[in-house]
Amino acid sequence: MFRAREAPSRENYSFQKKMSQKKDKEQRRLVEAAKTELAMIEGILEGSPDGIGVVVVRMQCGCRKMAAVTEDGEPASKVIMYRDQAASICPLCQADNGAYQRVAESFIHWVEPAPEAERQELIYHKVLGEG
Ligand SMILES: [Zn+2]
Repeated sequence: MFRAREAPSRENYSFQKKMSQKKDKEQRRLVEAAKTELAMIEGILEGSPDGIGVVVVRMQCGCRKMAAVTEDGEPASKVIMYRDQAASICPLCQADNGAYQRVAESFIHWVEPAPEAERQELIYHKVLGEG
């Protein structure tokens, strides 16, 4: 019993390896909207009756880009950009509208009940170009 604690078994190692390989895809689903983002998300959804989720793009500079999507992965609102505790987005984003190259992470906040995994995947692919 004590031994098992001292040295992790081979099985554990391979399990960890598998987990880290899966990490990128899994991580996307583990990202949750922060409180300040949730307030924005709710506001966007209120004005977008067709929206079944909101795409949240976090920029490296700290700005945020959001837009509601329909169940077909089409835009359900205008793209909204903002920056926490700031009157406007940063000069970089003002110049390039939040270029793809500067995206830190992106995910979709689903309206409950979230669509089935397959549809989520489809919308991710359509909206964020990955999947
Ligand atoms: Zn910015």
